[in-house]
Amino acid sequence: MSTTTQILSSIPIDAQTGAISVPIYQTATFVQEAPGVNKGYDYSRSGNPTRAALEQVLATLEGGVTGLAFASGLAAIDTVLKLLNSGDEILAVDDIYGGAYRLFTHVYEKFGITIRYVDTSDIELVRRSITSATRLVWLESPTNPTLKVSDIRAIAELARAHNAWLCVDNTFTSPVLQKPLELGADIVVHSATKYLGGHSDLIAGAVIAKDPELGARLKFLQNAGGNVLGPFDSWLVLRGLETLPLRVRQQSQSALAIAAYLNSHEAVAEVYYPGLASHPNHELAARQQKGFGGVISFRLKQDDQGLATAFLKTLQLFHLAESLGGVKSLCCLPCEMTHKSVPREKRLQTGVTDGFIRLSVGIEETEDLIADLDQAFEKLADAAFTTGIPEHLLATA
Ligand SMILES: *Cc1c(COP(=O)(O)O)cnc(C)c1O
Repeated sequence: MSTTTQILSSIPIDAQTGAISVPIYQTATFVQEAPGVNKGYDYSRSGNPTRAALEQVLATLEGGVTGLAFASGLAAIDTVLKLLNSGDEILAVDDIYGGAYRLFTHVYEKFGITIRYVDTSDIELVRRSITSATRLVWLESPTNPTLKVSDIRAIAELARAHNAWLCVDNTFTSPVLQKPLELGADIVVHSATKYLGGHSDLIAGAVIAKDPELGARLKFLQNAGGNVLGPFDSWLVLRGLETLPLRVRQQSQSALAIAAYLNSHEAVAEVYYPGLASHPNHELAARQQKGFGGVISFRLKQDDQGLATAFLKTLQLFHLAESLGGVKSLCCLPCEMTHKSVPREKRLQTGVTDGFIRLSVGIEETEDLIADLDQAFEKLADAAFTTGIPEHLLATA
């Protein structure tokens, strides 16, 4: 069954009224017939029918048994970490999302959890780094912003052999392009703020578990911590999901064309996109993913923050903003925005220089997006090579 068919057929029709859109059950509590006798819901933190509909679709989409919806991607990640005990160790991808790094290192380390960051695209390094204390292996693949790809199947085997859970943050690919649970992972998390919601109009997160017992523990933690997604935002994510495969297919197709365009541009030093044959993990990505996603990073030849800033401000269709995965294309300068908290030395080591740009490709026509980049490169060439950089291009917002 195609993913779209699967999503549309798993969104329930309202039993009482036949409403084809899931009703928004905007309620805190549910009236009981007698103490403890209810219709399946008693309080909306513990369960809400709109959220339950979303959670069921999330589980189906990722091929898991338990889906859980949270108030943000970080709330989802936080809940997974609460599975651990003090003394446990996490082995995490080094090029990790900044917010996850902050939570792991600045919150969970003080509770006695040890976190080690390694380049998980190097399977031998993972093999050498995993220990008997490792309870959780944490992957993002592809990573943000350098789009490194890790071998989920091989790492799942290593994790299983060490009695550790493998959790994959699947935000960048969405289940349309990659299903970590089918590759052997135990847990998938999402920032549903990105592709699942898809319209840059909400903050939400998701956790999906493959095993019912692990799912029940996570559901217990969801209710215990109370970081749940509200009914209206649950409904918005549900509506976003209806077009997820259409959006992601278009975004991936455009991104591949844009990456090829950038790769052949004289002003570009390097393009980071797993769909390019030149990407170091291209073969693995082609094997593991059904497409290469909508995020592209690249570095200008003149590796200069002022010039990169001027370039970003000249773009018309790519809006200068944090986040990714929405229908409108976005661009950002990681050194000043998403990765500002990463020390410059560490950033430079991973290739995220001052002229490093990240694009999130939306659903605009491919040729319009390329034309937009083209006009910005032309202005950049004028600015950089003939007259110096004009003031109006350099003025900061
Ligand atoms: C945005 C993001 C998060 C955090 O999600 P929020 O919804 O912003 O809390 C986690 N992981 C990745 C890969 C992200 O891009």
